[in-house]
Amino acid sequence: MDGRFLSKLVLVLFLHTVVRGTAVDPPSQIAIIGGGIGGSSASHFVREKFGKNVQIDLFEKDSRICGRLDTVTIDGREYESGGSIIHSKNLYMKKFVKDSPNLQEASSFSSTLGIFDGKDYVLQTSTWSIVSLLKMFWTFGLDLFRLQWLEKRFINKFVGIYDLQKQGHSYDTVQGFLHAIGGNDFVHATQITGVAEFSSDGIGEFMIDNLVSPGLRTNYGQNASVNGFVTAVSMAGIQPGLWSVKGGNKLVCGELVKNSSANIINEQVSKVVYNAASKTEKFSVFTKQSPSQAKTYDIVIIAAPIQSDMYHIDLSSACSNEENCPSSKVNGKRYRKTTANFVKGKLNSSLFKCNSWKVCPGSILVSNQDTFYRSIGLHIPVDYDPTSDEVDPVYKVFTTDPMTDEQRDYLFESYTTKATVVWKAYPVYEPPEELTSFVLNSAGLYYTSPMEWVASAMEMSVISAKNAALLAYNNWFGKGSDNTTAMKGEL
Ligand SMILES: Cc1cc2nc3c(=O)[nH]c(=O)nc-3n(C[C@H](O)[C@H](O)[C@H](O)COP(=O)(O)OP(=O)(O)OC[C@H]3O[C@@H](n4cnc5c(N)ncnc54)[C@H](O)[C@@H]3O)c2cc1C
Repeated sequence: MDGRFLSKLVLVLFLHTVVRGTAVDPPSQIAIIGGGIGGSSASHFVREKFGKNVQIDLFEKDSRICGRLDTVTIDGREYESGGSIIHSKNLYMKKFVKDSPNLQEASSFSSTLGIFDGKDYVLQTSTWSIVSLLKMFWTFGLDLFRLQWLEKRFINKFVGIYDLQKQGHSYDTVQGFLHAIGGNDFVHATQITGVAEFSSDGIGEFMIDNLVSPGLRTNYGQNASVNGFVTAVSMAGIQPGLWSVKGGNKLVCGELVKNSSANIINEQVSKVVYNAASKTEKFSVFTKQSPSQAKTYDIVIIAAPIQSDMYHIDLSSACSNEENCPSSKVNGKRYRKTTANFVKGKLNSSLFKCNSWKVCPGSILVSNQDTFYRSIGLHIPVDYDPTSDEVDPVYKVFTTDPMTDEQRDYLFESYTTKATVVWKAYPVYEPPEELTSFVLNSAGLYYTSPMEWVASAMEMSVISAKNAALLAYNNWFGKGSDNTTAMKGEL
């Protein structure tokens, strides 16, 4: 190669690097609104993408972080009261625990499963797994394998998101996101009911009524009229290999926020305003505590569901497109009220047809939609140690409204302690779901919660937080996002 050509090439490459390097300065201030697992993991991913110099402020209205992940104390021991189980293929939650010396997986304990129709059992599993499998096959026949096949295909496609995000792909819309990981099938699954989705795979009505719907009643307080995607997520949530975090899942939020050196501001955000004329720090964030004194940011990530029955933030002067703006929408979307009732006591063995409360199933899913209780599960404390612990049974009963004393007396022979936690827990799913945008203003305002209308789960919030951090990074440095959207006709 000619020496002059080589030096020109070096000069061109040098200039190219200088131009690229100086074209865009990194952002200096990023705000995250909401300190649930979505917002906490957003602070982790933002730090990972933007490096150590950016200031991250995390606004949380409550005095504690982690939102819908929390524990309740019963006689001095803590039990998961919100999001409690994590799937073995939830790779971000796994990694958070693996990477932190202060976190570890909780000890598991196995219990038998009963599907109860309010009077009798449709199915009762055994402590012997081979016997349980035979019983399940006897009850559900070949549908058992059809279901396993469907779930396997679903999960194999779903985990593709980890590679896509590792390569830096980000998605503007929920539809684009779903299309990238599962093609038209994943988009379509959100537009039809679980019944339609599972029947199209050959799964019969008996299994849908007696396993799929009872699982959904436990996990989402609804039946298989919810969308097909959340139905598949729910079924993944009653499979073996589920886990949780020792000491409580909420500890993950604390670790993520601490390790990202985010600055927690315990104030309630009331309004975000876009300052189009400003060159940097284009977004002003106002709080209830200081309504006239805004803090300004280059990028804002909202990680809390903004809608009439959950949280409110005035975004009318922040969104670039009114159609996408969550606070301006009155579209009838609602969150489902769910009560986690904790009872330390002995189950009513005659109601649940067991010789003694000690041999009743540890997990009772209810197939009858008319019962006031949706599921009853035996729970262990979050710091349970199988080598030394002997704990009295504590049950978690899911209902819509808090149980009355009469209802408790009906389900339990006797009890010593009770506690009640009421949640606005997850969306009321009514397919076809509206798949909205993660980008509220391409100048730097992002929103993680539209993902919940596909399926609400810890890992979904974390994946959405990673997408928001990638969107912020790609847009800031002009790399653009992947806007693979399915044609309208595909829905
Ligand atoms: C009873 C129950 C059982 C569940 N079971 C499971 C399960 O077993 N497995 C699973 O994976 N998932 C489960 N989930 C779902 C899971 O908990 C949620 O999907 C997930 O925790 C949502 O996290 P998030 O960060 O997106 O939202 P949230 O946890 O709701 O966090 C939003 C945060 O924003 C804060 N905030 C709101 N408005 C403002 C404001 N204006 N200013 C500042 N802060 C604000 C809130 O205080 C909150 O801390 C369950 C949920 C419930 C309630």
